[in-house]
Amino acid sequence: MTDTVNAPVAALPQTRLVATAIPGPNSIALHARRQAVVSAGVSSALPVYIARAAGAVLEDVDGNRFLDFGGGIGVTTVGHTEASVVAAAAAQLQDVTHTLFTITPYEEYVRVAELLAEHTPGNWAKKSVLVNSGAEAVENGVKIARKFTGRRGVAVLDHAYHGRTNLTMAMNYKASPYATGFGPFAGDVYHAPNSYPFRDGLSGEDAAARTIAHLEKTVGAEDLACLVVEPIQGEGGFIVPAPGFLATLQGWCREHGVVMIADEIQSGMARTGRWFASELAGWEPDLVLTAKGIAGGLPLAGVTGRAEIMDASQPGGLGGTFGGNPVACAAAVAVFETIEEHGLLAEAQRIERALKGGLERLAERYDLIGEVRGHGAMVAIELVEPGTRGGANTPNATAVGELVAYAAQQGILFLSAGTYGNVLRFLPSLAVTDDHIAEALEVLDAGLARLG
Ligand SMILES: *Cc1c(COP(=O)(O)O)cnc(C)c1O
Repeated sequence: MTDTVNAPVAALPQTRLVATAIPGPNSIALHARRQAVVSAGVSSALPVYIARAAGAVLEDVDGNRFLDFGGGIGVTTVGHTEASVVAAAAAQLQDVTHTLFTITPYEEYVRVAELLAEHTPGNWAKKSVLVNSGAEAVENGVKIARKFTGRRGVAVLDHAYHGRTNLTMAMNYKASPYATGFGPFAGDVYHAPNSYPFRDGLSGEDAAARTIAHLEKTVGAEDLACLVVEPIQGEGGFIVPAPGFLATLQGWCREHGVVMIADEIQSGMARTGRWFASELAGWEPDLVLTAKGIAGGLPLAGVTGRAEIMDASQPGGLGGTFGGNPVACAAAVAVFETIEEHGLLAEAQRIERALKGGLERLAERYDLIGEVRGHGAMVAIELVEPGTRGGANTPNATAVGELVAYAAQQGILFLSAGTYGNVLRFLPSLAVTDDHIAEALEVLDAGLARLG
């Protein structure tokens, strides 16, 4: 542990330990129970059942300890069971667990909205609505933009991921597994090319011109309520758009009265070494969507943005029973304070140096690594078939699958990503140390060597 991060509540050694076969006998027994009662539509990447978690480590029911380079998909950014988050949530649980903000409100919701207004990009009056999940934030962002503009069209980019609800299924790029068989889907969603420098070689301005030309042809700005963009695409494979792409799109949106929405659900909340990844591109979105890392593991999400857009909805039009739950809000306040007080933006930058630097050295030795990309603690490698790097860059999903499986046997949790399944992504909590990173790189090196 670095001394800049709060000690985890549970006294869990911050080291990996492989005590049994992975998965071990207790996990296998739980898995059998689960298969009898949990829907087959819910899958698990690594069926080890977790009993305790702290900092950067997960411990399973067989006593195996894993270095966690997934963070529950970028949720436990401040660390698993981070002390101040646990304390704030526990205290709130005793005071008020639920009232429903739309009946009798409470301070914690207001405080989260203040913190979001303060930390999201853009120097203007901002307001928020709080909800339960990322997909719900996306749905509300679209509702709010439609109400404000009086238009119906929703533009999204290729390789995007926005959730699993009906509207967001229609907004995703990839049908399988998210949408296959689940239609009919929402209409008025328009898909346009993104910027994918590794695969399209275009400048940001040229990629944006392509996106704009496509949207003008397929829908037209006058029918567009919003353009929803992840500043770094998450499930798509940590695709960082070429410089100038987002700013050019924002210029076009502003000119035509289209609300531009940043889906910062995966990239936000200190993950990239900035509060929000939009800042890396100098982008000041009209609306910002947050979820995942905002409450240290408790379910909370938000839509934050220009006051005039946020205020266009009629009273009662936004909300929901659990939205902005007091316990989740108290945890979120603690997350904001922890990021500030423990200098976690700098920790994310430290992680980028150690992790990206190490991956770039591996890329010099293994031509399976087509590209190393990302920012802060949101870094990935895109794997290609041997001998195709710099040419066809043929996606190599098999290699990613084998690396993830090999690392799990060594007590390290890695996650895959990417439209082609050929991206290995790293989104550890910011409690991960340089030693943990060195261990992960060593295991990755050995895994790559085995692939030959
Ligand atoms: C995870 C994610 C979502 C959906 O969030 P849920 O909380 O799973 O509904 C939306 N957008 C992005 C970029 C995400 O990473």
